[in-house]
Amino acid sequence: MSFVIRCLDCGHAAPFMPSSTHCPNCSSQWREAEYDMAEVGKTFPAQIKNRPFDLWRYQELLPIHTPNPIIRLGEGGTPLIQAVNLGMMLGLPNLFIKDERQGPTHSFKDRQAAVTIAALKEGGITEMVAASTGNVAISLSAYAARAGIKLWAFVTSLVPGVKMREIALYGSQVVKITGSYDQAKQVAAEFARQRGLYQDMGARTITAVESMKTLAFEIAEQLTMLQGAPPGSTDDSPKWRTPDWYVQSVSGGMGPLGVYKGFGELRQLGMVDRIPALAPIQAEGCAPMVESWKKGLEKAEPVLSPKTRIETLATGDPGRTYVMLRKQVNETHGVFESVTDEESFRAMHVLAKMEGISAEPAAAVAFAGLFKLVRAGTIKSTDTVVVNCTGHTMPAEQFLFGEGWTRDVDLREKAAQAVIPQEGLLSALNNVTPNRFPRVVVVDDTSEARRLIRRILQSQGDFEIFEATSGREAIELITRELPDLVILDLMMPEIDGFAVLDVLRSDPKTANIPVIVATAKELTVDEKSRLQGQIQSLMLKGDFLNDEFLEEVRALIR
Ligand SMILES: *Cc1c(COP(=O)(O)O)cnc(C)c1O
Ligand SMILES: [Zn+2]
Repeated sequence: MSFVIRCLDCGHAAPFMPSSTHCPNCSSQWREAEYDMAEVGKTFPAQIKNRPFDLWRYQELLPIHTPNPIIRLGEGGTPLIQAVNLGMMLGLPNLFIKDERQGPTHSFKDRQAAVTIAALKEGGITEMVAASTGNVAISLSAYAARAGIKLWAFVTSLVPGVKMREIALYGSQVVKITGSYDQAKQVAAEFARQRGLYQDMGARTITAVESMKTLAFEIAEQLTMLQGAPPGSTDDSPKWRTPDWYVQSVSGGMGPLGVYKGFGELRQLGMVDRIPALAPIQAEGCAPMVESWKKGLEKAEPVLSPKTRIETLATGDPGRTYVMLRKQVNETHGVFESVTDEESFRAMHVLAKMEGISAEPAAAVAFAGLFKLVRAGTIKSTDTVVVNCTGHTMPAEQFLFGEGWTRDVDLREKAAQAVIPQEGLLSALNNVTPNRFPRVVVVDDTSEARRLIRRILQSQGDFEIFEATSGREAIELITRELPDLVILDLMMPEIDGFAVLDVLRSDPKTANIPVIVATAKELTVDEKSRLQGQIQSLMLKGDFLNDEFLEEVRALIR
């Protein structure tokens, strides 16, 4: 493997020493790995074909000499999942989720920890210090356990107890700091200095940024599998795809820095022709990068006391990472954006209910950002978008749920009465739900649209749902079932939604049934006046989220 460590300040090139944290020439802590691309290009990507789909697949572009099988946990190689339901709601047919929850400790920090610990092991380190908002320490602890490295984990007292206990479970020493994350980093640095221990330097750690490149490699390779090879790709010189956008929630910003570098290296190899627009998303209560970028500042103004419940993202002072990321965001025509905690918790629910993906609040920040950028028209409906789902929610935090999120079945009394268990169970279950649910007819000629609306209705509430696939079927079904609500598509072959409405409104039995029109079409003035007074609500497909739609439904059924 041919690479050097290049100083970003003086340009000095040195061989990689995992335990060194400074440029030997000027002492700068800002350095990066630089590969001999002519050399790498001779064998990449032909060589990788027969390797397993994990992070080490791209080892020519990683700063590790021999990946050590003993410390691996199956890092990288997470699925790229098409978000069909969410995509339909947002009007984004090419929306993909990089599911980093599926790493060994359920966050994308597993990439960082796998490569960093592998390097430190090669470098002979046996004890180290890291400050963390939770996930880095969990992941480093897991790999450190395998590698025989003792970790001192400095976390703030805001880190949830479950995360602290997981760090401790892996055998690391948790040091709890009551103060900000930036303060915890300072204390950790001082502790490491006094004891002469190696300290993880976050985005300044060579292996951290290098590890995040594998996100770019995997996304490019997976998109090519899903969407086909781009024009100009041949067997001899295959090309991979670049999405239009890479969206990620950020704290220190290491993820997007690595993704940018990864696509940059693929471009040097001639395998992609561009780097995606980067969209780093922050929590509004701690958004130094977003605020500074919006003000046009070249350096970030730190946020001294972060005000967000999403502690994973509480880096108040991004320092030089902002300067680098700002350049990359501007160059790729990306944006920085922030979202509130509430928007993020809502996005977390939307993602779970519509896509079956339970993300931690910090990861949901990226999805709330996506919603905002689509609404603002920054992300276009034709764009291919990859959102990094950075971490799993374990466990779902209590404050996310209001009252009544469980329905309780108590069988203790029943058991005492010694009734037949089966019967007791059934009658207990009967108490759980009312006898009659509001009845809704969904009319749409496309099965994806019917499934989406069915999913929205069933995700939060009890409805009896009927489906009609044509105007003719709709009229018959509605006249027979007399539902509490009709959700009607307009554009259908033969009898369209307008005609269905005419029939319903002219029959006294169906004349007063409320109707929501859900249409993919921008209506003309003429069409709008035809609907006037005929319907109760108009929802444009691709322009509403599930909970907004449910609000309309609830309001009309009451
Ligand atoms: C670390 C982390 C982030 C922020 O990542 P950076 O690229 O380092 O800013 C986002 N989400 C989760 C779940 C994380 O663990
Ligand atoms: Zn230097």
